[in-house]
Amino acid sequence: MFEISVLASGSSGNAVLVRGDETAILIDAGLSARRLTESLAACGVSWDGVQGVLITHEHVDHTRALANVSRNRTLSIYANRMTADALRKKIPEARWNFFSNNSPFAVGGFEVEAFHVPHDAAAPVGFVIRSDGVSFTLATDLGYVPPHIVKAASGASAVMVESNHDADLLQNDPKRPPSVKERIRSKHGHLSNDEAGAFLKQIATPALRHVLLAHLSEDCNSPGLATDTARRHLEQAGCGHVTIACPGSGPLPHRVVL
Ligand SMILES: [Zn+2]
Ligand SMILES: [Zn+2]
Repeated sequence: MFEISVLASGSSGNAVLVRGDETAILIDAGLSARRLTESLAACGVSWDGVQGVLITHEHVDHTRALANVSRNRTLSIYANRMTADALRKKIPEARWNFFSNNSPFAVGGFEVEAFHVPHDAAAPVGFVIRSDGVSFTLATDLGYVPPHIVKAASGASAVMVESNHDADLLQNDPKRPPSVKERIRSKHGHLSNDEAGAFLKQIATPALRHVLLAHLSEDCNSPGLATDTARRHLEQAGCGHVTIACPGSGPLPHRVVL
């Protein structure tokens, strides 16, 4: 079994549960502890059944529940050292497991590998999670797609990637000052729909079955625009068979089985 359940996605919070036959891991914990516990319960999982929480980066929309849940000393928190340093004051009691980027490590029955993503945090990462010949790549906060991320995601069975904004809607947004628009478009900001689509076109192989579009802007994007753009690029790559979803915009948890 390889099951991905998106518990939350977007600026209000991010958390993804990945389950195998004997392992459940959480990627990020960006909801309140109460909501996260409820979301896990909706998937039939209690904290005792979670072998580890993998942290992409220290921003609060990815770590909101950590201070609370890390008081449970049996829960392992996986992060690279710089991200852990950025979080240490907030969560002094955590039971840390440090990983190095690009060095695979095991969490229960999963093999996990972290890779650097360009984002405005201490040492932000995305993850590849592998088990039984299938793999899931997650890259949810990134300003652009460097070649090593294309390599990390190529051949994946499922990909969760940021598809933050429609370039025209952002350009014409009357509420955001030019400096904010510049930050979003910068190399440490967020991916547009077209950038996410171009990435998908590069990594799509016949093995790819599911695309999850993450971190959609509420006012500079829509699920329809993001999905249509991704679909167009995937069809150009000969991968019209892939299912595409925007989990933050529909009922949660959103579940995908590989
Ligand atoms: Zn962030
Ligand atoms: Zn984020």
